[in-house]
Amino acid sequence: MRRAIVPIAVLASVLAACSGVDRPGVPATGAERQEARRLMEASAIPRQRRLDEAAQHASLARVVRHIRPAAHRVCVRMKGANCGAILSRSPVRSHDREINAHVDGSHRVTMNAGLLHASGSDEEIAAVLAHEYGHVIADHVDKRMGDAGVGALGGLLAGTLVGAVICDRSDSDCMGDMAHTGGSMGLGIGALAYSQQHELEADYYSALILAEAGVPLDAGERMLTRLARTAGGRPGGYGQLGVAMARTHPANDERIARWIANRRALEHALATGLTTDAGLASEARRRVLETGLGETRWANPRTGHSGTITAKKRWRSAAGEACVSYGWKSWQAAGRAETEGVETACRSPGGPWRVR
Ligand SMILES: [Zn+2]
Repeated sequence: MRRAIVPIAVLASVLAACSGVDRPGVPATGAERQEARRLMEASAIPRQRRLDEAAQHASLARVVRHIRPAAHRVCVRMKGANCGAILSRSPVRSHDREINAHVDGSHRVTMNAGLLHASGSDEEIAAVLAHEYGHVIADHVDKRMGDAGVGALGGLLAGTLVGAVICDRSDSDCMGDMAHTGGSMGLGIGALAYSQQHELEADYYSALILAEAGVPLDAGERMLTRLARTAGGRPGGYGQLGVAMARTHPANDERIARWIANRRALEHALATGLTTDAGLASEARRRVLETGLGETRWANPRTGHSGTITAKKRWRSAAGEACVSYGWKSWQAAGRAETEGVETACRSPGGPWRVR
């Protein structure tokens, strides 16, 4: 069956040209990954409310009233896509018993009866609705179609190239098979390659929208844990939310760990009262310089931008100054622009830090 083999490496390199890989929010630490695994294995999450149909409608209406204006404000402020659709398309409830929700091509959010029934609180429903609005704001429905198309084209090309090498020149069936196999593999890989990243990005927008609406952000961990468990989830397994294909979603524990990381960074920003990226980045730098921490992270609930400060080396200069060299990185809300650099700061005993 030599014909069916299309080198994955060729496909992968072609597909690397698909839409940019986004970095939503801040990376999780090892401790947060452990915490996520513990949550999935042991923690008590609130019982399902088992709402009847009338209560589901009432709950969804309360959540929509609260979350929709916040999602619209976040969309406009962060220059997201489809902001008008958030106001013009009311979310609807479907009779579907599956614990799931999704956005369709017209950017309308559908919340399944199964999800509303199984939720533990209005806040958990808010986290899901905000996640779906994240897909709208980041224009994921259109991007997913684009990625599938680019993938199919790349696969077709790769299959044809491979066919040219391994097929007999007169064997047009062989050439056709290779192109067809490559094209369909590429279609699948293109559609899936970035959707895990899309889920993480939608989760980050969900946290930003909840923060904007004044909803406690830990509702997101509870809902993600509930989804992972209800879907027979386990650490390293795959939960659901948004689309029905399980493998389009990041591993449950990674997703929960990222939620915890972003929640902490956003809550920290809210607690400091700082509202500018420069203010938050310099506060994060101060924590690295003064506390001996290896890394600090910041995320701005106003702009959605985020970053890390990582200590690389600490030493004492010949003049007796304490010096730290550190790397900084920052990401724009949708992660399209990433900037980074390395700096050194020193201070004499009791004096202020000076960046060299
Ligand atoms: Zn989703």
